[in-house]
Amino acid sequence: MQTTFTEDQLKDPGIARSNEILRSCVHCGFCTATCPTYQVLGDELDSPRGRIYLIKDMLENNRIPDAKTVKHIDRCLSCLACMTTCPSGVHYMHLVDHARAYIDKTYKRPLTDRLLRWLLARILPYPGRFRLALFGAKLAQPFKKLVPDARLRAMLDMVPKQIPPVSRNDDPQSFAPKVAQKKRVALMTGCAQKALNTDINDATIRLLTRLGCEVVVAKGAGCCGALTHHMGREDESHATAAKNIRAWSAEIDGAGLDAIVINTSGCGTTVKDYGHMFRNDPLAADAERVSARAMDISELLMQLDLPVGPSKELTVAYHAACSLQHGQQIKTHPKTLLKRAGFKVVEPADSHLCCGSAGTYNLMQPEISTQLKARKVKTLEAKSPDLIAAGNIGCMMQIGSGTALPIVHTVELLDWATGGPEPRALSATENPVSAVPILR
Ligand code: SF4
Ligand code: SF4
Repeated sequence: MQTTFTEDQLKDPGIARSNEILRSCVHCGFCTATCPTYQVLGDELDSPRGRIYLIKDMLENNRIPDAKTVKHIDRCLSCLACMTTCPSGVHYMHLVDHARAYIDKTYKRPLTDRLLRWLLARILPYPGRFRLALFGAKLAQPFKKLVPDARLRAMLDMVPKQIPPVSRNDDPQSFAPKVAQKKRVALMTGCAQKALNTDINDATIRLLTRLGCEVVVAKGAGCCGALTHHMGREDESHATAAKNIRAWSAEIDGAGLDAIVINTSGCGTTVKDYGHMFRNDPLAADAERVSARAMDISELLMQLDLPVGPSKELTVAYHAACSLQHGQQIKTHPKTLLKRAGFKVVEPADSHLCCGSAGTYNLMQPEISTQLKARKVKTLEAKSPDLIAAGNIGCMMQIGSGTALPIVHTVELLDWATGGPEPRALSATENPVSAVPILR
């Protein structure tokens, strides 16, 4: 694709990167076939190619975007299915990230939009605030019909039935391996996940220590910045990412780290991109070191000796989170690990398509998100599984709100198969994690 940026424009590193990406697109349109929003809405402007044209026009003309441009870019899930499909290697993620930051700086959204986005950015990345908000939302649920805004109603719908107590395992500390040490890894404990489901980190710590890892929860590490990054709020996302880079760099420079392990794939995609995000920052070298060590939990487990388990006689429908299969190109590891642990694994027919969760997308774009959820639940249930597994809390919340089937994190099943407790979602009775001994 030809571009007409001026020399002056190209001095801006963001524009220079977008120019490179735009020039790699040959506008063949293959990406439209796997774009969920194009499938739902059927509008070229809601396809990757359409959005690329809108972004090109906005950036080249250095213009304040109009409401139409913002609408179509806002409707993008950042699922990155288009990157998997594109034969020309167009890095759509960096392009749309730049476009979102540009919109955030130049476009004045309607007041309700600004308030909602401000609220989400002030609450979701902070587990304490988010937990309080969840309790507040639970109280407001009976009055949902009186709430005038569909996005606020969607937020009330997403509140889980049970809000777990704080897990002290998420505090900064080190967990000793239960067998001879193979690796020293930092666990990213995250933000929203800590308020929504504490079992995932608990299961990860049990599993990794059982397989010979010292697991460190680094002091000062927290939200990866993805939630605000996808809203275009660059200053906020970089501020939280910088805290992580400093916290993990201190561990790398101290006792050393073999990996920074992440069990929320949406966060993993962002941490792996820190090197790019901070390429023009004094933290660039540290950001590169952090990104180079970032691993999805399934990648790390493939390097450890996960025992082969007897058949569990349970059929698991594996839902591939977009951030894992498209963002990180990790497609087979979770399925391989589940099979090795003794589970029968099936996949839905539309396994490449997003479930509609996509960070805050299900809260900001509830109509499209609900359609994608209904489609995903239907194709998962069509496989008649006993349960559903996924590697991302956002997908778990989204799909879980549309099906009666239990949904668990892949790591909970692997922990269970190797001596941990039965995942809570599968238990008829409560199975508090605190009753399970964890080596410290
Ligand atoms: S598939 Fe790639 S090259 Fe073709 S239009 Fe889409 S982004 Fe451009
Ligand atoms: S990221 Fe997903 S929703 Fe956005 S353009 Fe690409 S395929 Fe479509």
